[in-house]
Amino acid sequence: MAKTVDRCSFCGRPKKEANLLITGMDCYICDYCVEQAYEIIKDNLQAKASNQFSVKGDDLPKPKELKAFLDDYVIGQDEAKKTLSVAVYNHYKRLMQKDTDDGVEIEKSNIIMVGSTGTGKTLLAKTIAKKLKVPFTIVDATVLTEAGYVGEVIESILTRLLQVSDYNVEAAERGIVFIDEIDKIARKGDNPSITRDVSGEGVQQGLLKLLEGSVVNVPPQGGRKHPDQKMIPVNTKNILFICGGAFDGIERKIANRLNTKVVGYAATKDQERLDTSNLLQYVSPQDLKSFGLIPEIIGRLPMLCHLDQLDRAALRRILTEPKNSIIKQYIKLFEMDGIELTFDEKVFEFIVDTAVAFKLGARGLRSIVETIMIDVMYEMPSSNEKTLHIDLDYAKEKLKKANIEKLKAA
Ligand code: ADP
Repeated sequence: MAKTVDRCSFCGRPKKEANLLITGMDCYICDYCVEQAYEIIKDNLQAKASNQFSVKGDDLPKPKELKAFLDDYVIGQDEAKKTLSVAVYNHYKRLMQKDTDDGVEIEKSNIIMVGSTGTGKTLLAKTIAKKLKVPFTIVDATVLTEAGYVGEVIESILTRLLQVSDYNVEAAERGIVFIDEIDKIARKGDNPSITRDVSGEGVQQGLLKLLEGSVVNVPPQGGRKHPDQKMIPVNTKNILFICGGAFDGIERKIANRLNTKVVGYAATKDQERLDTSNLLQYVSPQDLKSFGLIPEIIGRLPMLCHLDQLDRAALRRILTEPKNSIIKQYIKLFEMDGIELTFDEKVFEFIVDTAVAFKLGARGLRSIVETIMIDVMYEMPSSNEKTLHIDLDYAKEKLKKANIEKLKAA
């Protein structure tokens, strides 16, 4: 198509009336039309995101449904599963509440999960995320202390939430944030006046602003690497926060508290009923305070639950029972090469025994299985074998050569 005057193929504006005329194949577009097109795209994406995250009454998963879904992937941890399911359900209900004149406004109940590392806190959060109809993200509280100064870095907790919401602020304001390793921002010691660890407390004060619900300015790119970015105001009033932490050593605080109570108020009868092998089940807000969380933060995390240590029986179940258990994953990997993989039951027992003996926990299960399987994973795809059976002798032989220290590091 021959043109005498270069003009925008969309609005017809001649080149001299536009700031910029971009040339395409047999066409032109002016800067005005580019801007307009950008607005149209943005509106469309926002509408799409709003639809994706809209919560309607009929398809609201009930707490029991949510828990059943968690049961498919996470072994044990019933208390945490129930707490999480109820909190998420109530979160939806709160989002659906209309302004009524009865003055009843459902407030959010953020959660805190206490449990040793590797007991399934992140797995629970990730699994429930699959069922969620609101934006969800996981952030790590340790980066907040590393930053060295508080300021805008705290707000960057919400950056990821904005990103998963396609920068749709309205959707992000209804989202859920899982803050991992919350115990790492605890101040050392119970007494604020003697503490030298001001940074932990500073980070907690900053976090409080997010938890209690206020409008905060979020850096859309996160961090401090982009000082020129335009901040996006986000209201955290309806954002649900789920915090998780190992709180190493909190058992001692629990034991201390229980002892004084038992001695002070009740007879030995009470003491007998205490299950000292699992003190975490008695964790209370007071213990979090002794550990170094400030009372204001604890007050904003009213749902407190614990995760049990994984015993031998739990580890054995984790190996094969969850919908995407490690063993099921390996069977599938081999299936893709047309090979039927089977295990001797004794191999499972051996794997669990090794994990227990070396205190490797659930994370260790995967590294043990990987160590046993690496050679066959390498050899089998090039062979013509259609079946593979792993027996105890083979597993033992492979693990004998392995470096247990390396497994521990996993
Ligand atoms: P945490 O966040 O408590 O440190 P994770 O959730 O990251 O622990 O657990 C590490 C891995 O161990 C998970 O990816 C999963 O494979 C396994 N795991 C831990 N706890 C469980 C559990 N209760 N049920 C099933 N798998 C588990």
